[in-house]
Amino acid sequence: MKLEEKLFLDRYVVDEDNPHLKIKDPELCQKCEKKQCLYACPAGVYTWDGKQITVAYADCLECGTCRIVCREHDNIDWKYPRGGYGVSFKFG
Ligand code: SF4
Ligand code: SF4
Repeated sequence: MKLEEKLFLDRYVVDEDNPHLKIKDPELCQKCEKKQCLYACPAGVYTWDGKQITVAYADCLECGTCRIVCREHDNIDWKYPRGGYGVSFKFG
């Protein structure tokens, strides 16, 4: 089964009031040369429109990779979603 098909089967409960992923300082992203978050996230949560990073936090798989790759700037505020929210994996 392809990754996209597996991802489709995962179940997301989005916590609209309390995103678990945030960019701390958007201006810092503009200065970030490598923008590793764009390439490291398996779910394509981070996109760059030429001016700013957009975070589609609802698609997050909670793997924690983005926090690690952004350690140079430490610009991602990441916490596990509140109980009852987030992703449930069917195929882990
Ligand atoms: S790696 Fe961190 S600082 Fe760089 S663009 Fe991504 S979130 Fe911003
Ligand atoms: S925790 Fe993983 S899936 Fe979620 S945004 Fe970061 S890299 Fe992407």
